[in-house]
Amino acid sequence: MKVMKFGGTSVGTPERIRSVAKLVTGSNEPLVVVLSAMSGTTNILVEISDYLGKKNPDGAYEKINALAKHYERVVEELFATEACRQKGLEMVRDHFAYLRSFTHDLFTSNEVKCVLAQGELISSALFQLYLEEQGIAPVLLPALNFMRIDREQEPDQYYIRENLLREMEKHPGNSLFVTQGFICRNAYGEIDNLGRGGSDYTASLIGVALDASEVIIWTDIDGFHDNDPRYVENTHPIAELSFDEAAELAYFGAKILHPSTILPAKVAGIPVIIKNTMDPAARGTLISDKPTGMGVKAIAAKDNITAVRVKSGRMLLAYGFMRKVFEIFELYRTPIDMITTSEISVSLTIDDRSHLDQIVEDLRHYGTVEVDHGQTIICAVGEGIASASNAAASLFNAMEDIPVRMISYGGSQNNISILIGSDFKKKALNALSSHLFNH
Ligand code: ASP
Ligand code: MG
Repeated sequence: MKVMKFGGTSVGTPERIRSVAKLVTGSNEPLVVVLSAMSGTTNILVEISDYLGKKNPDGAYEKINALAKHYERVVEELFATEACRQKGLEMVRDHFAYLRSFTHDLFTSNEVKCVLAQGELISSALFQLYLEEQGIAPVLLPALNFMRIDREQEPDQYYIRENLLREMEKHPGNSLFVTQGFICRNAYGEIDNLGRGGSDYTASLIGVALDASEVIIWTDIDGFHDNDPRYVENTHPIAELSFDEAAELAYFGAKILHPSTILPAKVAGIPVIIKNTMDPAARGTLISDKPTGMGVKAIAAKDNITAVRVKSGRMLLAYGFMRKVFEIFELYRTPIDMITTSEISVSLTIDDRSHLDQIVEDLRHYGTVEVDHGQTIICAVGEGIASASNAAASLFNAMEDIPVRMISYGGSQNNISILIGSDFKKKALNALSSHLFNH
């Protein structure tokens, strides 16, 4: 069994949908295809939800109608037969009638999730119908029947496995399945999702549930690159990464993969491969438990970071101070990314600012608190870089002209992180590429 996930751009136009159909029909193993919404759709659904939440039905109607028109054109272009066009139009119209129904009702956060789910429901239904028109009969597996998160918003892996297998057993002898990424139900049975970009996560969860031989993430770039191609010219795809390297890169800003994707695959030992739908022959990136060699493999950057420094004389020679500081972040369920300490102060970074005011107020009981917004974590990732003698030296040489706010070294063997003001990000990324990779 294999799992293939196609992202928004990979299914973004009728032409792209046709090439995806070719990629999924050549498989010699049974296959589960996980689809994102067509590109741009989820963003528009977010805008529609905003209008509905702000009690602006006219604004919502305008967006809904424009999106409906767009999908009608997709249907016209995608299908060759009148029968499939009719079916496609009916399906699309049902989903948009459902969206319009919200303009009459109370609109809560639960309704937002129902609105956001429509993108994947439509793309998967269109794809299934297209394959049917091609004479292929895939089974559409409703993700809402098996994908589920628990009260802690974590995937309920036991439930997912049991229910996915049950759904698949209803169709013995079939070897091609299509399902929706991103969407799921929560512990209360309501429609929910795995967070933006969550279709990657769906794919790895399905891979684990089915003990798949591999999970292929088809996207619009030929794998993880050694630096961010949006800011640095001449970046190169990386042929192989370890699970840990890929997890760090995904977490620290490499937008290519949802950060939670790697962990379940790593635990189950299932290789994840990143491939480019626009260039299927390109090698892509293989992420597995194979050793990939020492040294810096890639640089990534994570923006919108806030640094918090707590300074206190009381910290001097005291024990228990850190625990008190960390407890405050725990109380407000705010994850900490980087930490550095001195004898009288501790600096840490967060990217979720939603409880920052309360956190700062509580921290003030323990000392003076300084907050800096607009920070970026630059992260160098590669097996063993924290113990390789030259890695740190070349890294710091590259940062010569850049004011560094924090450095985290030695926390992990695979990662050196540096905090800088976001204004210096582009300069830092380019300097690191030329020092470390010599392109
Ligand atoms: N469609 C969702 C999003 O745009 C999920 C995904 O594409 O992975 O966030
Ligand atoms: Mg994505």
